[in-house]
Amino acid sequence: MAAYTQPCAVAPETAHLDCIHCGICLSACPTYLQLGVEADSPRGRIYLIQAMKDGRVSADSLNFQQHMLLCLECRACETACPSGVRFSSMMDQARVEMRNHRRLSVFGKLTYWFVYRKAFTSRKIMHLGFRSLRLYQRSGLQRMVRASGVLGLLPRRMARMEALLPRIPPSPKLNLPETPSPESDRKAFLFRGCIMPELFGPVHQATVRVLQRNGVSLGLPGKQTCCGALHLHDGDRDAARRLARQNITAFEEDREAVIVVNAAGCGAMLKEYGELLSADPIFAERAQAFSRRVRDVCEYLDSIPIQRVIERVDLKVAYDDPCHLLHAQGIKSAPRNLLRTIPGLQLVELRDADRCCGSAGIYNILQPEMSARILDEKIANIIRSGAEVVASGNPGCILQIRAGLDARNLPIQAVHPIELLDKAYSLRLSKHSKSAKS
Ligand code: SF4
Ligand code: SF4
Repeated sequence: MAAYTQPCAVAPETAHLDCIHCGICLSACPTYLQLGVEADSPRGRIYLIQAMKDGRVSADSLNFQQHMLLCLECRACETACPSGVRFSSMMDQARVEMRNHRRLSVFGKLTYWFVYRKAFTSRKIMHLGFRSLRLYQRSGLQRMVRASGVLGLLPRRMARMEALLPRIPPSPKLNLPETPSPESDRKAFLFRGCIMPELFGPVHQATVRVLQRNGVSLGLPGKQTCCGALHLHDGDRDAARRLARQNITAFEEDREAVIVVNAAGCGAMLKEYGELLSADPIFAERAQAFSRRVRDVCEYLDSIPIQRVIERVDLKVAYDDPCHLLHAQGIKSAPRNLLRTIPGLQLVELRDADRCCGSAGIYNILQPEMSARILDEKIANIIRSGAEVVASGNPGCILQIRAGLDARNLPIQAVHPIELLDKAYSLRLSKHSKSAKS
């Protein structure tokens, strides 16, 4: 198994010392490009974080918080930086400090506790929540609520969440065993994620079909949980560590099997468990071993000989790099290579494909104005590319781009690359079954 090399693991306490203030990262930073304000650039934020550590700026100052919260945590600055500055470690530390200074009302605390500690970590609550939302959409209630104008009475964030709500597909059962077959020489676990099974069930199904078609024996551990990325980015390191420990234990049934992930944000987080738990006497080594086994689905398929696709998929496709695949995991060519294996598929390059789409976890809900400005540019580039389909390997990016396309009534689809590969394989299957019947 090829070892995964973590991108430049600089200790968070000293990471700022590597910054030589050259400013090369500024032209890669979406918020700096939008605002042209130094404090909304990576260099400016590093300066502010250092000032907070030195006690010259307080973590509860509104000004400080605004500049920190406007950061998408896209990590484009890390890719651009010639000194290997690990900006994300510093930002995570800043978020911890901000969280420690946060003053929430009792209602706010209860909401946080329920959403982050209960809903994201419980399959049952998540499933029940999305089933209710599905009913809300299918029953016609959503149409009535939207027409009534009652959404205008809700807090802005809730109204925004409702507006961003995509059509929720049925959540399919994957029917996989807990562990892959021990005899198989291609063994993998599927990482399920918290939102993926509810909003992207078809992507999970496509992933399973493509992997199995390529001889991969799959397992789906029932005790796995949310990756913890949202918790970490909100400064809740303890919760992120708890989830990491649960996942590490859940995937230890077969320590030789790779852990395949089809959501770039989760994949980046899982690959950093080693760092997250580096001071844990029981889990430090296990976390390192776990992270070395994690593969993005495109990364994995690109590393093994796969079945040739024969049927044509005549589509013009633009690929958009998810930040947490490109900047956090350093994966650029694997998804493109896979798409190029599909005959007839014309892969067109998207201008600024390496720039964030404005989704960034729940950034599009928390920072709607900046998110919309960044999305506008992404959609303009998609239109310019002439693509009929946009492929991107992260659920948040797919949702964000879909929302942007739908809002403009554009007949362009946003899908996961694995869905295109699955489509190409399935075309062959359906042709064969038709000829067998005739
Ligand atoms: S590119 Fe790197 S070294 Fe230069 S200012 Fe940005 S973070 Fe600092
Ligand atoms: S993570 Fe992204 S938004 Fe934040 S400073 Fe770096 S480039 Fe800018």
